[in-house]
Amino acid sequence: MEYDVVIVGGGPAGLSAAIRLSQLAAQHQHPIRICLVEKGSEIGAHILSGAVLEPRALNELIPNWQEKNAPLNTPVTESVFQILTQNYAITLPTPPSLRDKGNYIISLGNLCRWLAKEAEQLGVDIFPGFAAGEILYDNAGRVVGVATNEAGISKTGERKANYEPAMEIRARYTLFAEGCRGSLTKQLLERFELRKHSDPQTYAIGVKELWEIEPNQHVAGRVLHTAGWPLDARTYGGSSVYHMRPNLLAISFIVGLDYENSYLDPFEELQRFKHHSAIRPLLEGGRRIEYGARALNEGGLQSIPKLVFPGGMLVGCAAGFLNVAKLKGNHTAMKSGMLAAESVFEELQQSQSQPQSRATLIKYEESLKNSWIWQELFKARNVRPVFRYGLWIGLLHAAIDLFLLRGRAPWTFHNTKPDYAQLKKAKDCSVIRYPKPDGKISFDKLTSVQYSNTNHAEDQLCHLILKNPELAISVNLKEFDSPEQRYCPAKVYEIIQGPNTTPYLQISAQNCVHCKTCDIKDPMQNIIWVPPQGGGGPNYSNM
Ligand SMILES: Cc1cc2nc3c(=O)[nH]c(=O)nc-3n(C[C@H](O)[C@H](O)[C@H](O)COP(=O)(O)OP(=O)(O)OC[C@H]3O[C@@H](n4cnc5c(N)ncnc54)[C@H](O)[C@@H]3O)c2cc1C
Ligand code: SF4
Repeated sequence: MEYDVVIVGGGPAGLSAAIRLSQLAAQHQHPIRICLVEKGSEIGAHILSGAVLEPRALNELIPNWQEKNAPLNTPVTESVFQILTQNYAITLPTPPSLRDKGNYIISLGNLCRWLAKEAEQLGVDIFPGFAAGEILYDNAGRVVGVATNEAGISKTGERKANYEPAMEIRARYTLFAEGCRGSLTKQLLERFELRKHSDPQTYAIGVKELWEIEPNQHVAGRVLHTAGWPLDARTYGGSSVYHMRPNLLAISFIVGLDYENSYLDPFEELQRFKHHSAIRPLLEGGRRIEYGARALNEGGLQSIPKLVFPGGMLVGCAAGFLNVAKLKGNHTAMKSGMLAAESVFEELQQSQSQPQSRATLIKYEESLKNSWIWQELFKARNVRPVFRYGLWIGLLHAAIDLFLLRGRAPWTFHNTKPDYAQLKKAKDCSVIRYPKPDGKISFDKLTSVQYSNTNHAEDQLCHLILKNPELAISVNLKEFDSPEQRYCPAKVYEIIQGPNTTPYLQISAQNCVHCKTCDIKDPMQNIIWVPPQGGGGPNYSNM
């Protein structure tokens, strides 16, 4: 299939790029063929976010979103910041970056569904259920599109009755909007050495539950962020608890993936957190209705790679525009998609027939550097790296940096080590004993995965590839006590051992919720996450 532009990923970045391009095409009466592929079974199925939306980019993209009934139904009324100890919740002044007046509590999945309708009305071809599995290059090494995955291949590699061949989608430009730790983006970063002049990217995992709660516990528009317990002071993380209309509570617990203790389990941290005396009453009498998890970028400005390469560019969290001080990446993802679209449009207009020069692609980087994205990431750049010295130093520095210096400190801290290299060997870690779930407030992983509506065809090639299967035992088990059993929030990895069997790693890939944590945190970088066959994965409805 031939298009002018193909966009990989139907999140806020990809959809905003598609909409902006179509708007420009209509405005200038310059038709453009645009296609967007999404690995989820529908737009929104793989989308998980907190989410408080800062509507700045949406205001620029679709100024009349209110008339058009965009699903922004819960304006923020109150922002609270607390430090938790095991028994107490201490309210502190809310940091400027977490004051959410003017923002909205939303389901990002629903916003994406709405954006997709807008894009389709403008003529974009959207193909959900199609994962881009391969990047296409021409003889000169320029990106010329993507190929979708083949479907209907059995576990053993044979074609089944429902076999569908891969589809090549060729385009003059390819925009990679795969979100945090995109599988094709990872290949591009290596091939074009896009990270040569930037720090390593650093990440967190966010584990989220959506609850229906008793009306007398619900304060529509209330936003609570916490730091501290149950994490120790050396581990970065905290919670977000958002009261969304009608009577929903979105609880996310985020753990920086630079954690050191191999025995830490982010899912279990969320389960303990919910039992805190400041949180538990909110949930009592309520009902959990959804569960999921997703990695997010935390590296900020220092970790943004080169964004352009021959034939394409990176947008949104594929590049890493999340503002960690605000815990927000949706508005920056949208804006980067819009800026990418503007530079692509200019190029398409100028060179109707011949392949584009690289100059205009570089213009995308220039326009980003002149945009509000860069200004806010610059201000926030020192907040996260300092937390590596512990919670208290991190908080003190953030107070000086954000309250007093307003992000204009004359220094810049760097992200020096990738997250996987921070993990300590089991012998140097203390075992964490998590309480048993009570089945009312806290749950086990397998029950939880059912609430993500995850579905993968069982008889397919495993989409979690071990580069060297032997390392799972010789290094991961022997030296780290198999941390993948704990950091995976979907119980995909399990060491099976009995009195008469040698231990082996069992991979239940059908449970995978596509959070990408194993691809990031495996200490040997031995696990490669690739998209499964068509449409597999979670089916989130309101995340
Ligand atoms: C727990 C948590 C809480 C957060 N809270 C907030 C918040 O309150 N406010 C806020 O602004 N931000 C928040 N964020 C960050 C925000 O969600 C991200 O910044 C935002 O989703 C990035 O948008 P994106 O379009 O770049 O990527 P994504 O939203 O990740 O979308 C990428 C899309 O691409 C698809 N895709 C990926 N690879 C392929 C492929 N190869 N082929 C086809 N499709 C593919 C995916 O299925 C997905 O639909 C939070 C994130 C998490 C995890
Ligand atoms: S297998 Fe990997 S990507 Fe899938 S849920 Fe587990 S950690 Fe996340």
